[in-house]
Amino acid sequence: MTLAAGLRAKGSGLAVALASLALATAFAQTPMPGSGSVRLQPDWTSLEPEIMQQFQTVLRFDTRNPPGNEHLVADYLKGVFDKAGIPAQIFALDANRSNLVARLKGNGKKKPLLIMGHSDVVTVDEAKWKFPPFSATRDGGWVYARGTVDDKDNLAGGLMTMLLLKRFNVPLDRDVIFLSEAGEEGSSNFGMQFMVNQHYPEIEAEYCLAEGGGAIRIGGVAKYTTVETLEKIPRGIELVAHGISGHGSIPLKSNAIVHLAGAVAKVGQWRPEIRFNETTGTYFRGLAQIAAPENAKYYRDVLSTDPKLRAAADEWLFENEPLHSSMLRTSVSPNIFAGGYRSNVIPSEAKATLDVRALPDEDPIRFLEQVKKIVDDPAVDVHFTAQNVRPASAFDARLDSEPYKVLEAAAKRIYNTVTLPTMSTGATDMAPLRARGVQCFGIGAAIDMEDGPKGFGMHSDQERLLETELYRFVRYNYEVVVDLARAK
Ligand SMILES: [Zn+2]
Repeated sequence: MTLAAGLRAKGSGLAVALASLALATAFAQTPMPGSGSVRLQPDWTSLEPEIMQQFQTVLRFDTRNPPGNEHLVADYLKGVFDKAGIPAQIFALDANRSNLVARLKGNGKKKPLLIMGHSDVVTVDEAKWKFPPFSATRDGGWVYARGTVDDKDNLAGGLMTMLLLKRFNVPLDRDVIFLSEAGEEGSSNFGMQFMVNQHYPEIEAEYCLAEGGGAIRIGGVAKYTTVETLEKIPRGIELVAHGISGHGSIPLKSNAIVHLAGAVAKVGQWRPEIRFNETTGTYFRGLAQIAAPENAKYYRDVLSTDPKLRAAADEWLFENEPLHSSMLRTSVSPNIFAGGYRSNVIPSEAKATLDVRALPDEDPIRFLEQVKKIVDDPAVDVHFTAQNVRPASAFDARLDSEPYKVLEAAAKRIYNTVTLPTMSTGATDMAPLRARGVQCFGIGAAIDMEDGPKGFGMHSDQERLLETELYRFVRYNYEVVVDLARAK
């Protein structure tokens, strides 16, 4: 690139070289509200065609998992980064399931920032789609394709951020690492686990931005923006009832199925104690301030120290907002019940599996003891399954950290909303990073609260994203990364 022009951002002393006059039109000097300083900003409107083209390109690769074929995305990105002069490398446990890492070097003053998106998507039932699921058709202001909100928005956002940082030659205090990871939808042994276990130095960072948040629009207006700062830890518990086998014509008191049924019923009706952490406490308090009064009451009451108010709110949430109910506690859901093989044989064993989603600070041994006490039947063994658990997150993302403050400020500026931290009830690819001490923040494009129930949400029959929200998210992504990484 030849340097044709140099612009100086007042206040920062930051010189930015431009490759051509054409690129200069993609810049505008925009005062940043609240900062008092002036900073160079891409001209977002003129970038829209390029953003859309990149988004559609990654959406059109059929990376439904299984089988994945994430190499289609990785190979494409490699070409884009090579052309842009950004060093990029492919890592694969299986040649068809490759990951890509690109890195922009900083001056090393701070530890790197990792931005990531997963390149696989969940499977589709093509008959349910108005437009083919890998067509990325634009219609009525929406883009339709599997992956539009999970998670090729983050992929496109990260890609554009890297390209713009390079194009505008933004000086960096820290490396910015981009990761396109395979297998997030149920086969992270090819993706995140492989990268963390075998290529950790390539992605080692102080902070990470991944999926799991975004602005929530109600009636077409952004009401609040969520950032995922924490996640629950999945564990399995098995209940195994033992009895005496025999002929079905002679019922036995020790019948294993009867004992197991009793145990599952008790566990199913049990509501483990409510416990808040920094993230969930802040979330419910924030929600109480912005929700409609009839709902706000329950968010406030569940935080109350009055046990009656709290129990009533807990009951209401369990019935009406089960996601919120799960955020309050270590949850237990009996999901497999197995026993018996002939109608005239009393089996000697019956088994149930409980899906336990533990609060990050839960003591597993203590919790297992609680389950045993609830079951209260010597004929039923209670133990953890050998299921391969994602590692516990030893390090939560802090709400008083620099990234959280930067994310809050960006949401205020770009979406005009407050930011609420959330705890995911499911496990994510951030878990192995959090376990290594990386503070991870989940972000994403804005979605309409009404769109999920209409069947257009993540993992729904169809999936779509508003074009305007794609553009807005790329800007949010870029500005957050610039704030966290640019030389100061
Ligand atoms: Zn996802």
